[in-house]
Amino acid sequence: MIPGRRPRSDAGAPVTADPPADGVKGDGMNAPLDRLAERFAALLPPGGVITDPVRLATYECDGLTTHRASPGVVVLPESAEHVAAIVRACVEENVPYVARGSGTGLSGGALPRTDGVLIVTARMRRILEIDLPNQRAVVEPGVINLDVTRAVRANGYYFAPDPSSQQICSVGGNVAENSGGAHCLKYGFTAHHVLSCEVVTPDGDVVELGSGPGYDLLGVFVGAEGTLGITTKITVKLTRVPETVQTLLAAFPSIETGGTAVSKIIGMGVVPAAIEMMDALAIEAAEAAVNCGYPADAGAVLVVELDGPEAEVAHQFAAVERLCREAGAFEVRVAADDAERALIWKGRKSAFAAVGRISPAYLVQDGVIPRTALPEVLASIDALSAASGVRVANVFHAGDGNLHPLVLFDDAVEGAADRAEDVSGKILDLCVEHGGSITGEHGVGVDKARYMPRMFTDTDLDTMQMVRCGFDPAGLCNPGKIFPTPRLCGEVPGVRKGPHPLVAQGKAELF
Ligand SMILES: Cc1cc2nc3c(=O)[nH]c(=O)nc-3n(C[C@H](O)[C@H](O)[C@H](O)COP(=O)(O)OP(=O)(O)OC[C@H]3O[C@@H](n4cnc5c(N)ncnc54)[C@H](O)[C@@H]3O)c2cc1C
Repeated sequence: MIPGRRPRSDAGAPVTADPPADGVKGDGMNAPLDRLAERFAALLPPGGVITDPVRLATYECDGLTTHRASPGVVVLPESAEHVAAIVRACVEENVPYVARGSGTGLSGGALPRTDGVLIVTARMRRILEIDLPNQRAVVEPGVINLDVTRAVRANGYYFAPDPSSQQICSVGGNVAENSGGAHCLKYGFTAHHVLSCEVVTPDGDVVELGSGPGYDLLGVFVGAEGTLGITTKITVKLTRVPETVQTLLAAFPSIETGGTAVSKIIGMGVVPAAIEMMDALAIEAAEAAVNCGYPADAGAVLVVELDGPEAEVAHQFAAVERLCREAGAFEVRVAADDAERALIWKGRKSAFAAVGRISPAYLVQDGVIPRTALPEVLASIDALSAASGVRVANVFHAGDGNLHPLVLFDDAVEGAADRAEDVSGKILDLCVEHGGSITGEHGVGVDKARYMPRMFTDTDLDTMQMVRCGFDPAGLCNPGKIFPTPRLCGEVPGVRKGPHPLVAQGKAELF
């Protein structure tokens, strides 16, 4: 079993606890953790250490709520020095640790360990420096994504990565997941907006990763899902607010016609700031949740946003409107002002949560396909849904082929969760078969570790784990994430001969 993962005996209800780690006493007390909790209490200001089981429950999962584990100890450091001291103490006690920002991750990256320490950055929320002439800001990892924009908006700047969770997710979490968002088609992912990171390495050293000669270690660190160290200070790029923004909502009879419009728009050479699509089921959910006023009879809606210099946007916007109509849009609404723009976005931005209105439970999937394969893959998802009886609502960043199928199920019905997971897995297979990826922006975490071999060869995975071992020889930094079968440092890469030692000990499972 991947440590920290709890298999479910029934739909959505996690039941099995992790196997106790070495040093766990029969009465549930854990000597290394007890010693650590005492050390942390001496290190941190009041309230910085949580051991009360009721309060620990707050941290037992992230946005992937099907996987839960109560952390051994939670700590709330306030500085890089605190984080470094905590990591060094964990290394001395050979105790694993996991970083957590706001806990909105959707792949279980911040899933804690019952035998480990959860390092939460919620008390590291200072914006340390704003340097407008050089278009950069220095922030602590717990700073909320949207707060960076709020701090500089009046000066005509913003922080471009815009995950839909931007009101609550942290910049540290964005860095770890290399998060995207609706506007990443034009502006790029978090990686394109991070200039340097101060990092507490798995040895407890504090180092600076930035651009410069030599290997691009910053590039390795961003998107590593918290497995290569903990970032304690991030220098981000600030982007100029564009001169103008124009947004439209186009309603199509079908996903296919909407997909044709996407191809035509991109084919024309326009790079929209965002181009998002929702299918009929997703529209129904959004309508029920936020009354966004999308045309009720649409088989699909497209939200297209252009930004930039006024003259350029005006010219391109007229062409986009025309292409939508030519592709079959039966209604095109152009936002006349900020309020109308906000209403158009309200439906799309609330789509994940809105699905709760039409289904008791659902899985948020995240896969990527080449844009041109959209119609074919969506037809296959439809067929999968019809054959299995599992409803799938589709929301996607159409411009870069990043799908977010929402797989609906009723967790009160026996076997429904397993059927939903099965459909989910088959959707990822479709993505890989079409030359895409098992994740676009939500990461691998625990959720998709088992799918990694569908995309990568043993040699690929070994090479990645050698990189991980280079940073974290002790294997204590967010273990059990990303890789289906963790390698130990010092193991010879290549085809494994005999079972992995952790498998032999019953601590890891081969999927
Ligand atoms: C409603 C909703 C909508 C979402 N929309 C999007 C979207 O549009 N695009 C998108 O990309 N994602 C989206 N997400 C996923 C999620 O919000 C992002 O992955 C986000 O970046 C996670 O930030 P967090 O602070 O919540 O991180 P957490 O969930 O706390 O942690 C995520 C990972 O980061 C690691 N980590 C956290 N802090 C640090 C640190 N300081 N140093 C090193 N590692 C660290 C953790 O160990 C974990 O592996 C959405 C989630 C929700 C719930």
